[in-house]
Amino acid sequence: MTEIIRQLEKGDCLVVVDVQKDFCSGGLLAVKAGDEVVAPLNRWIGFARERDVPVYASRDWHPQRHLSFHEQGGKWPPHCIQDSEGAHFHPDLMLPPDIVRITKGVRFDQDQNSVFDQTGFSAQLRRDGVKSLWIGGLAEDVCVLASVLDALEEGFEVFLIKDATRPVSADAGSKAEKSMKRLGARIVF
Ligand SMILES: [Zn+2]
Repeated sequence: MTEIIRQLEKGDCLVVVDVQKDFCSGGLLAVKAGDEVVAPLNRWIGFARERDVPVYASRDWHPQRHLSFHEQGGKWPPHCIQDSEGAHFHPDLMLPPDIVRITKGVRFDQDQNSVFDQTGFSAQLRRDGVKSLWIGGLAEDVCVLASVLDALEEGFEVFLIKDATRPVSADAGSKAEKSMKRLGARIVF
């Protein structure tokens, strides 16, 4: 089902969150049906290209022995280790050659779930004249949620592309969607 509230236009951007091998099937921290976000995101990347709307793609990019890993007392199995195979974007994701990457999760002293968390991304968006974010990727209840909440906090309008995201857990996913909506994000399919 495709219901588009409006077409992409000047002042919009598309943000593709962490569509990396480790979050897809066979990855070290696979999100259920994570691969299913690739086809809708490719469609949206196509819309963005047609309308000259900027596309940004974030990647989780952890140093070895990152504090978010189980062995270091963190919440997750090791994943998206810098330069490893699993840290690559999904091979079917059709990112434009001039894609702007947002690299996060590199800090030694804390994790960074949000694409805005000490990356300077909001400054880049303002320089690029962006007012509205259309966002999808992985995972809905973790990095997408954190990014959407920060975007709203920063004063951007946010559209969550529902068929282009998947949660780690269904329950947390529906909670995440509720809080995003409550804080002003709009959900599109
Ligand atoms: Zn991570």
